[in-house]
Formats: sequence, C-alpha cells, structure tokens
Amino acid sequence: EPIITFDHVVKEFKTRGHGGAATRAVDDVSLAINRGDIFGIIGYSGAGKSTLVRLINALERPTSGSVTVLGTDITKLSEAKLRPIRQKIGMIFQQFNLFSTKTVAQNIAYPLQLDHWRKDYQDRRVAELLDFVGLSEHADKYPSQLSGGQKQRVGIARALATNPEILLADEATSALDPETTTEVLNLLKRVNEEFGITIVLITHQMNVVQQIAGRVAVMSSGRVVEAGDVYDVFAAP
Ligand code: ADP
Ligand code: ADP
Repeated sequence: EPIITFDHVVKEFKTRGHGGAATRAVDDVSLAINRGDIFGIIGYSGAGKSTLVRLINALERPTSGSVTVLGTDITKLSEAKLRPIRQKIGMIFQQFNLFSTKTVAQNIAYPLQLDHWRKDYQDRRVAELLDFVGLSEHADKYPSQLSGGQKQRVGIARALATNPEILLADEATSALDPETTTEVLNLLKRVNEEFGITIVLITHQMNVVQQIAGRVAVMSSGRVVEAGDVYDVFAAP
C-alpha cells in the first residue's frame, strides 16, 4: 500500500537574469513508496534528492504532476489543510538543526510545545524518547556538549515526538564517521521496526542505503534512473 506517490512530477526553479531559463531539479518522476518501507534515494550532489524530499512535505510544490501523501493529493493543498499531514511527517537533517540555546530535553519537547500538549504529557513523552535513543543521562546538556552521533539521536527523538507516520532523513549520516553512521542507522532500523514508521532516506553514500534500505531509487539529473529492491539495484551484473 503506497504511503507516498509521485505521479509524473516535474519541479523547475526559475533562474533569475537568464532570459527565463529554468533548472529542472525533478524531471518527470513517478514513484511509489510503501507504508513500512525504508526507502533510500541515492544520487550525486545536485541530482534532485532534496527537492524530491521537500515535495513530500510541500516545502516545494510541483511545476506539474502530482504528489499524494497518506492518501491525500497534496499538490495544491492550502497551507491550512497541509497542517495535519505535516504533523504526520518528521524530518532529520545533515547538520542536525538543533536549537543551541535549548537543552536536549527542551529540543525534544519543542514540537510538543508547538502543539500545546500539557506539560506533564510533554515530560513523560520526552523521558520515553530519551530512553529510546539512549540519552537519558544527557537530558540537561546543550547540543555543543554532545558528539555528532548524540546530536543526531536528539534530532531523531525530536522528529518522533509527535508520533509521525513518515520520517524524512536528508543526508542524516553525512556528517558522521562510519562507526557513528552505523549506530544511527541501527537506531533508524528500530524506529522502523518498533513503530512501523516509513523512512525515506536520502544520501550520496551507497554504503548507507546498502546497510538499511529495503528499496531504493537512484537519481541523476532530476530523473529516477533505476528503482527497486536494494539487492537487485546493486547486484553485480
Ligand atoms: P541534491 O539534493 O541531490 O543535491 P537538489 O534537489 O538540492 O539536489 O538540487 C537539484 C538541482 O536543483 C540543483 O541543480 C540545484 O542547484 C537546483 N535547486 C535546488 N533548489 C533550488 C532553488 N531553491 N532555487 C534554484 N535552484 C535550486
Ligand atoms: P492545555 O490548555 O493544557 O495546553 P490543550 O487544549 O492544548 O491543553 O490540550 C487539551 C488536551 O488535549 C490535553 O490533555 C492534551 O494532552 C491533549 N492534546 C493536545 N494536543 C494534542 C494533539 N496534537 N493530539 C492529541 N491530543 C492532544
């Protein structure tokens, strides 16, 4: 059952001062991502991976074609109607995007605060998430006091705070050494297995998709040039 569908999606960016020329960041992509998948999107820098992922939470809108998420065609949905869908989508980033002036616990609580959860529920949920990512001892530290792997675990806990159905990971391990990368990928596997969360993971690192993804799409110049089971796509000819 697809949880995310791209149907002939094109995304062009207008280039200023070049007589109306446009960059085609995503070029006629059709793709289905199934509920419960760990879906890898791999490609070199500039291939269109970030744009594709930003189309999933409607941070970008398609130039043509349509995007369906959680059963709703979000292509032309208003910001107000997008809200409940965005609440079902968590995101983690290469540079972690933590608030440097908030503690670990405050970072994780932030999305719950935005949703006006009661303080006692926030505290309970944060404690649960700290335990899940193995950072209970570090609740009151600031991001600058943490290692890269610990920072990304805070990012994951924060992304999970509001119980999303989809987790988008944009080069989430690209700033980490190989050992820490494996640790973070193992945590993402647990997120997928224990909570059934669909993970869309974009990376330029082949070993990352090979370690974790079940299905993979290879992007080049805005196009999906290959898609399928990770084993088939990367099998030696
Ligand atoms: P990737 O994530 O694979 O590195 P991106 O999706 O970031 O690729 O970029 C794909 C192409 O779209 C690149 O040529 C990039 O310069 C262009 N692009 C991305 N975002 C914008 C934007 N906001 N404005 C103009 N061009 C953009
Ligand atoms: P408060 O006035 O204490 O901030 P709210 O009006 O925000 O309370 O929430 C009322 C009740 O709804 C609380 O028990 C809270 O736990 C619950 N609640 C708040 N946000 C959500 C949400 N996004 N989903 C489900 N329940 C929520």
